[in-house]
Amino acid sequence: MTDLAALRPAFDRLKAGNPARRLTFGFAERRKALARLGQVVRDHRDAIAAAVAADMGKHPVEADLVEVMPVLSEISHCQKHLRGWMRRRAVWPTLLMLGTSAALHPEPKGVALVIAPWNFPFLLALAPVISAIAAGNAVMVKPSELTPATSALIARLLPLALPDLAQVIEGGADVAQALLDMPFDHIFFTGSPAVGKIVLAAAAKNLAPVTLELGGKSPVVVGADADLAQAAKWVAWGKGLNAGQICVAPDHVYVHETVMENFRSALRAAFAKSYGRDAGASPDLTHIVNDRHFARLSGLLEDALRRGATVEALGKDDPSRQIMAPKLITGTTPEMAISTDEIFGPLLPLIPYRNLTEVVAAINAGPKPLTLYAFGGGNLVGRLRDETSSGSVGVNLTVMPFIHANLPFGGVGNSGMGAGHGKAGFDTFSHLKPVLKNRFTLLPMLFPPYSAKVRRLKNLVLQLVK
Ligand code: NAD
Repeated sequence: MTDLAALRPAFDRLKAGNPARRLTFGFAERRKALARLGQVVRDHRDAIAAAVAADMGKHPVEADLVEVMPVLSEISHCQKHLRGWMRRRAVWPTLLMLGTSAALHPEPKGVALVIAPWNFPFLLALAPVISAIAAGNAVMVKPSELTPATSALIARLLPLALPDLAQVIEGGADVAQALLDMPFDHIFFTGSPAVGKIVLAAAAKNLAPVTLELGGKSPVVVGADADLAQAAKWVAWGKGLNAGQICVAPDHVYVHETVMENFRSALRAAFAKSYGRDAGASPDLTHIVNDRHFARLSGLLEDALRRGATVEALGKDDPSRQIMAPKLITGTTPEMAISTDEIFGPLLPLIPYRNLTEVVAAINAGPKPLTLYAFGGGNLVGRLRDETSSGSVGVNLTVMPFIHANLPFGGVGNSGMGAGHGKAGFDTFSHLKPVLKNRFTLLPMLFPPYSAKVRRLKNLVLQLVK
């Protein structure tokens, strides 16, 4: 049980340490901190796998692939590029600024708050911490209360790696609310759009800058000319991974009506290849995180069935262990909850379409998705890219835009604001401070008094800038 009264002193300690560090917490120290964090993660790979298995039945291979590996690769990417990112970024003068030199100097924001979700409980708590530390900040982290084993492990490991740079505060919404009352210099929230709104409102009280990494319904479009086997393979992977409990999981698929049956059989084959004929019996299928989310998904399914949808289960469920086999759903209609709520689980509506204009209109009618996946020829891809808005676009693949360290990752509109990963993450936790230096600017010639000479000069300048 977290003592709420202890939060403020903990925050003050991080804050007090930070101004001194602004001067001394330079490149070498940041690199060392990142190296220590990498070492601690490598040393505790088995414990991480055990924690995420206890929390949500994640297979140890998947734990390595989706929790440990991205953390280690984010650390090594930061270590490799840190010197360049920290360097002043020179800016060309404009005409009026001739005689000056300018640069952006990245400075740490101060003390950052990271609030993390449960679906990748280790990765999504650690990734923003890596960016915050790389950018020279101290950081407080609140992992998700829904994955208690992983949260406890993070609380044990971070002090080993970052003793006076990071504090882990365990707890639920009440603890998050208490943290949000404090004047953090940046808040990095990953979670649902509903809680994102609460975070943004709380941040307003302290004018804290906020990054919101939210969710939403990421659509897939499979055109008549798509390579159906490839499309099915990527969609089954994106929906099967973490049992669909991924912010960038394919939420639903628009399939050109002429290829619906072929795509459906390709999907069946792709799921069977990864998880066998009964996906529910596969040790490789992650469980649903808890009873509440199992009931939520069952509710979406029942609502869809009651309103006339058809469900094809690709295996048996075991509610006692929160195992839900993937399900292909057809005949959904816009009034169904499955068509409006983020699914965040292994249910996959397949929606036939006749022409792309309908699909573009349907996507634009809803909130902006976190990502959009397109499978098909250049015309389909180009139209979806240019006529819809989403946090990112994946072409002939799924999930991967989340993983590319050289691409900023973030949402737009209802799916979030700001971005993380790699240099974008470093910049998020930095204030890029413009420093403008006078060398021989002629601007003082325009200072008052506004004599005839000044007025002539001003007219000349107006001519130049018009
Ligand atoms: P959530 O919003 O319920 O919880 C996220 C965090 O917010 C948790 O730490 C929780 O304790 C805290 N929280 C809950 N209620 C709060 C409140 N009233 N005030 C302050 N804090 C509160 O989200 P979740 O269920 O953990 O995660 C699922 C959601 O996260 C999905 O919508 C998913 O798409 C999204 N997500 C987004 C990304 C991304 O990178 N964009 C990644 C993973 C998950």
